[in-house]
Order: sequence, then structure tokens, then C-alpha cells
Amino acid sequence: MTDKMTLSKSKINTFIECPRKFKYRYIDEITEEANEYMLLGTEVHEIAEEIAGELMDGNEIDDVFLNLEYDEKLEDHIRGLERFFKDIYSNGYEIFSVEEYIVDEDNDLNGIVDIVIKNKESDELIIFDYKTGKPRNISKYKLELCVYKILLESKYPDLTVASAGIYFTGAGAYRIANFGSVGADYFKSQSKEDISSGDFDYVDGVVDNLYGTIDRNYFKKEKGFLCKYCFYKEMCDEDFG
Ligand code: SF4
Repeated sequence: MTDKMTLSKSKINTFIECPRKFKYRYIDEITEEANEYMLLGTEVHEIAEEIAGELMDGNEIDDVFLNLEYDEKLEDHIRGLERFFKDIYSNGYEIFSVEEYIVDEDNDLNGIVDIVIKNKESDELIIFDYKTGKPRNISKYKLELCVYKILLESKYPDLTVASAGIYFTGAGAYRIANFGSVGADYFKSQSKEDISSGDFDYVDGVVDNLYGTIDRNYFKKEKGFLCKYCFYKEMCDEDFG
């Protein structure tokens, strides 16, 4: 039996995409070169963290954006972030945590949560993950949102994660799912779908399959259209195992 690997949403998502890719990236530890989309994502995450830090220090939102220095290619993302942070403060929320790294030893999970906001009037939290790509349906992201909720509630058992969502910085678009209770507040009311216990069962099933695959040490190739964008394609084509 292999030592139990601690999982993250990136590891679980990679395994779903292709078990062989999971092996190259996380078992063989072959590091992927960052492409332009990854670099953009890193830049936007760093600047969003800087903005949130300034706001948590008590600076006025208009001043923060007025004094912000950034590359002009980020203009759409900066305007998107301005809308996002204004939505937080004008709808009764405050920033609870930013880029927090959480380890949940009971569930063998870890991860970094981009930003968590808290309703000023209650113990409800909302998790947001930033994405720089085109807006897509929330169903694609349910697994990672479940993982974030598990992580947050393991660290803050007295608080409830009421909703979780993706914020697409370039388009200024939300995709939000509620964990059960639908509310009238700004963010919850934008939810188009819920996350139910069935979604958490799905996560459990994938995790069981992933650990079983590691124990069997056979990582099947998931051939498909994504192969042509895969960093590991060349070694994969030459690998007949
Ligand atoms: S080339 Fe395709 S099958 Fe091979 S690792 Fe990449 S995604 Fe998987």
C-alpha cells in the first residue's frame, strides 16, 4: 500500500481529465511549463490579492483602483475586479480571507482558497475562485466548490459556507451555486443551481477511484481532443505502458 497522498482540487480535476496525465504530473513529478493562460491567471490572482489586502487595511475602494499599477493587457480583468469588490462592499459583505492555504488532515485534502467573503449580519461565508477564461456553466466547477467547502468548514467549524462560485474576471461574470438554502441577498440570488449531497457523493467516488488507481499503479490514458493541448503528449505517445 502506497502512503496516502494528500489531495487537492487540482489533483482531483487532473485525474478526472486523464489518469495518465495525473501520473506524469503528480506521481512522476514532471513539471509542466507555464503557458500564456497560466501566466495570465497568476498575474490576475496576484493583483486580486494585492487589491484585497489594501481593502482589508481600510483603504477606500476608489483610491485602491486609482493607484493600482498594472499592465494594460490586464485592463478588462482590473475592471472586472473593481466590479467584484464593489459588489462585496455595497451588498453587506466583507472580506473574510484571501489566498488562504488550508490543510484538512481528516479528509487528506489541502488547497488555497482564492477569496472568502462573509455576510456582516450572519455566520455565512461565500467562497469565490477567480478564473480568467470565458464564463462556463457552474456544473463544470461543482467538484472543486465541494472541495473548498470541505476545507473551509474543517478550519472554521462554527461558520457555514452558504454558497460558492466562480468569478470570471475578464467578463465580470458570476457563476454561483448555493449549498441548500436560497436567500434573497445579492450573491445567493444569482445562483442558477444548487450543490446537493449527490455532488459530495460524486467527489467521494472520484477520490476512492483515485486512491484505488494509485494502489494498482495503472493510470489509463484518456484519449480525446484535449490531448493536442497536453504538455505530456510527446512522452505519452512514446509510452506504451
Ligand atoms: S496526451 Fe492525452 S492521454 Fe496522454 S497524458 Fe495527455 S491527456 Fe492523457
